Parts: sequence; structure tokens; C-alpha cells
Amino acid sequence: MAGNWKMYKTPSETRAFFDAFEPLVADVTDCDIALCPPYLSLEAAVAATEGSNIAIGAQNLYPGKEGAFTGEISGHMLSAVGCKYVIVAHSERREYFNESEADVVKKVRAALEYSLTPIVCVGEKLQDRESGNTETVLGGQFDGGLAPLTPEEFSKVVIAYEPVWAIGTGRTATPEIAQATHKFLRSKVEAKFGAEAAAATRILYGGSVKPDNVKKLMSEDDIDGALVGGASLDPKSFAAIVKFQA
Ligand code: PEP
Repeated sequence: MAGNWKMYKTPSETRAFFDAFEPLVADVTDCDIALCPPYLSLEAAVAATEGSNIAIGAQNLYPGKEGAFTGEISGHMLSAVGCKYVIVAHSERREYFNESEADVVKKVRAALEYSLTPIVCVGEKLQDRESGNTETVLGGQFDGGLAPLTPEEFSKVVIAYEPVWAIGTGRTATPEIAQATHKFLRSKVEAKFGAEAAAATRILYGGSVKPDNVKKLMSEDDIDGALVGGASLDPKSFAAIVKFQA
């Protein structure tokens, strides 16, 4: 279960979140928990969660170790401050920062080089779904961003299916739609990397996940977890999601 805080929470707000959140999930042993604060709050998050069952991730990285790339942050730096995960190609980055499938490949490799688990986002827009092009779009994202990886590289990747029309809109994909799409993505993994890889790949659903809809989504065979935006900002609500409690 991963939370994406986007551009929310200063370091002191981050500390306050974990003071409240940590005791609520201290007894959770059957699921990996990760939160992805903005860059400037990463160190506070890592310090606050040391020795706990909560891992910290970043929301983006620049491929490469260091260099003249003003304003950018590398996987090397994220790893050095204690991050374990990094989100790659969130739809907001695809939309506002023009991230392409070629960037996905570079960023995934850069993450793996510094022992970060990449959470790679794919998802179709509303017009794609309405025009019956969901599988073409997702297939293209998979073929361009994930299929070029070696089996060894791919085995370390987590996929997040996030229909763009469901992100921050309160309009969740129904469990049936999410399941069918996850199944399609798993079939793409199987065709490229084999049945064992397909069974082992973790595919998270993201898009308006809340305490009251998580249980149904998680009961679907091909949904292995959730990537949560808005509802991960509140400790009680994200703890309820982690525990599938409405
Ligand atoms: C997200 O930002 O990845 C997301 C799924 O947001 P929300 O849960 O707010 O729809």
C-alpha cells in the first residue's frame, strides 16, 4: 500500500503525520507500507519511520548519478537519504512534464542502479476509455516503458494502474473495471516475461481509493495493492486503507 503525497506536507507536517500514523499500523505485518512525500520532506519522513514497518519513497527521480542538471534529484541522492521506493511516470508527470516511455526506461534503470524499487504508473485518459482505446494505450505504455527492461530488471518493478479519469476526481474505477484492466496488464507481462513473472508482479490500483472502497478493490484477484493520493494525507484514512477498514 503506497501513498503519494504529491506537493503536500512540509517537514514539520510530515513529522506530525507519522506521529499519528505509526501507532495505527504498528501491528500490520502482511503488507508493505510506503509513503512518498515531496523531496524536501524525505529526510524528516525517513527519520520519523526508522525501525518501523513503513518505508519511504520519492515521487520522481532524474536518471544519472550527479551532474549539471539544475533543479534535479538523482536516485543516488534518494537512496543516500534512506528512500526505498520511487514513483515513475505518474500521470501528472506524463501530462505536465512531458514524460515519455523512453524516460520511463531510463528512470527505472536509474532507480534500480541505486536499489530503489520503482513504482511505474500507467493509465488511460477518459477519452481513451470512452473510445474503446484503453488496451491500446496501456499496451503502448507497457511496450514502450516496461517491455524493453531485462527480465532481471523487470522482476524488481511494481506497476501501478491509475486510470487518469479516476485520479483526484472521486470517480473510482469499479472493482470489475479495475480487475479486467489489471488482468490485461498481467497478460502483457506474461506474454513478454513469462507466467512466473506475471504471477509475481505486483500491480497496484490507483484512483480515488478511500477507506470505503478499498476492500472491494482488494478482493479482486489481480489487484495486489493500492497507490493512494488524497486519502494518504490523513493518518487515520491511510491507516484504514492499509487495513481495508471502512
Ligand atoms: C495518485 O495521485 O496517484 C492518486 C491515485 O490520487 P487520488 O487517490 O487522490 O485519486
